[in-house]
Amino acid sequence: MTNQTILVTGGTGFVGIHTILQLLQKGYHVNTTLRSLSKKDSILNALKEAGIDDFTALAFFEADLTSDTGWEEAVAGVDYVLHVASPFPAQDPRDENELIIPARDGALRVLKAAQKAGVKRVVLTSSFAAIGYSRNPKDHLFTEEDWTDATAAIPPYIKSKTVAEKAAWEYIETEGGNLELTVINPVGIFGPVLGGISSASLDIAVSGILNGVIRESPNFTMGVVDVRDVAAIHLTAMTHPEAGGERFIATSDGVMSFYDVAELFKKERPEWAEKIADMQPTPNEFYIEMTNHKAKTVLGWQPRSKEAALLASVDSLPRN
Ligand code: NAP
Repeated sequence: MTNQTILVTGGTGFVGIHTILQLLQKGYHVNTTLRSLSKKDSILNALKEAGIDDFTALAFFEADLTSDTGWEEAVAGVDYVLHVASPFPAQDPRDENELIIPARDGALRVLKAAQKAGVKRVVLTSSFAAIGYSRNPKDHLFTEEDWTDATAAIPPYIKSKTVAEKAAWEYIETEGGNLELTVINPVGIFGPVLGGISSASLDIAVSGILNGVIRESPNFTMGVVDVRDVAAIHLTAMTHPEAGGERFIATSDGVMSFYDVAELFKKERPEWAEKIADMQPTPNEFYIEMTNHKAKTVLGWQPRSKEAALLASVDSLPRN
């Protein structure tokens, strides 16, 4: 047991629950925020499924990204904050501000509360969305130096993550004082569903393919990362001396199209093959590639393979 307390925002989410689990397993005290305390049981059930039976080190706080209420209490006495919460819907809202406002204002609320409480460092879960959606991907390897242009006409979720991360860096630069910020930019996050807590990416790219709802491979490739490795990089980034002020792309080696995912599932999990559509491969010119070199070399992060991440998702889903 360490004496340190970590705040994880968005404990009800796919990344949130795995992050809480790893922190508890490492002996940290954990505060977590939920929009409603009525969702507490989903967190407890997921942690029980993962073998946790002592919850004395876990405390729940009600707080919404769109309101000031509750953040001061959640962050009191906390050493580090992992700000994971942000709206991630399966479908775009009609008004982009439904995502942008909670993402941006929520990040600023968390940073301000953390600074006031004397927190050492906030690790913000951004996304590859804030990196890879403006530059032509042809012959380009995306790195942490790249930024999506938030002023361009881009989908609401991508804009919300870009605007929120930019606002967070600006806050740290202008008003941050001694507070440090580290940003994690994950690609598509897969890996095991715990206690039924899934996310939009998994519902679309794993369940959608397995159930035959996705019938064509869109013209892009995606990076893939396991949620356990995303949780692990947050924990490392929290205390690593060289992580302050840095952003890190979190991806396994290589990229995949939906066609590649469908073929992987058919080959490795033939018991699911019946409903999986026969798709056409994605043309080479649409390959989007990114590198995990910085996370590996600076943080010593060693992610699982993309295939292991996707198959772990499949193996955690109930078969109907
Ligand atoms: P998720 O399961 O949908 O989790 C999102 C979390 O944010 C939930 O706990 C949700 O709470 C919370 N949240 C949303 N709006 C909120 C609000 N207004 N106030 C307070 N909490 C709010 O998705 P996830 O995959 O775990 O995503 C976690 C983080 O990773 C997000 O920042 C996301 O942008 C980022 N990310 C995800 C992926 C991916 O492929 N999954 C890839 C890159 C980055 P409720 O349960 O109450 O809705």
